[in-house]
Amino acid sequence: MITKYVSACIRDIQKHRFQEGSGPQTVVILKGCPMYCTSCPSPEIRNHGVRLVWDPARARHFEDGRIFSVQEVLELCLDHPDTLCETSVLLTGGEALMQHAFVYELLSRLKERGVHTAVETTGYVAESQFARLLPLIDHLIFYIKHYEREAHRKITGVYNDLILSNLRNSLGSSSEVEVRLTLVPGLNDRPEDVAGFSRMLQHVGVKQVQLPPLSPSAPPVRSNPADHASPFTGVEMTEYQDAFPT
Ligand code: SF4
Repeated sequence: MITKYVSACIRDIQKHRFQEGSGPQTVVILKGCPMYCTSCPSPEIRNHGVRLVWDPARARHFEDGRIFSVQEVLELCLDHPDTLCETSVLLTGGEALMQHAFVYELLSRLKERGVHTAVETTGYVAESQFARLLPLIDHLIFYIKHYEREAHRKITGVYNDLILSNLRNSLGSSSEVEVRLTLVPGLNDRPEDVAGFSRMLQHVGVKQVQLPPLSPSAPPVRSNPADHASPFTGVEMTEYQDAFPT
C-alpha cells in the first residue's frame, strides 16, 4: 500500500552527530500529547496541529509546527547515503506515539532500509496501537512520572494503569527498553518516593532505570524542547542511585 501521503504535525527535525566517525542521528519532534503535566515545560506542544504562538522575546507570533508527509521526513532522515547503515532516527514529542498512523508508516519505511529506530514515550497510548508499533522500535525510552495511581493523575491528568500495562508488555518484546524517571522537585523526588518507585518498578519487572543527569554539566539525556527529563534535584538523588543501580 502507498503510504507516503500519511502526514503529521511536527515541531522540528534536528540532526545530531554525537562523536566523530559515528553516523548522524535525526531527531523528529512530533506535536501532540494527551497528558496535562503540571510541570510541562512546553504546554503548547500538546496541541497536535499547527498553531500560532506568541513569542514575547521577539514580540511576534510564530507558527508552532508544520505538516510533513512520511516521504518528506524519510528523505530528511536518509540524506546521508554514505553513512546509511549507521544512521539512526529518534522520535520524540510531546507524546511521540500520539500521531500513531504516521509513526507506524515512518518506522516501517525506516526499518525496511535498516535504520536504527528509537522512540521516547510516556507510554500513554492505546494498547493495540502500542503493540502494533513495538516491533518497529529498536530502542524504547519510557519516561515514568509517578508510581502511585492517584498521584499520577494529579500531576499528569491521567491514571498510570495504561502506561504500566504498556511498559510491562514492552519488557517482553524485542525492543531494548530503557526506563527513565522524571523527577519533579516537590512532586516525586522526596526520599519516601524512592521506595514507591522501586516497589512499583519491581512489580512491573523493570530491573534498571536511568536517573536524571547529576548536574547541569552532565551530558543531557535528550535535547527535547518539551523535555521529559527533569532537572537533578539534590541530595535525594543519592538515595535514588542506591535504590536503582544503573
Ligand atoms: S511534560 Fe511531556 S508528557 Fe507532560 S504534558 Fe508536557 S509534553 Fe506531555
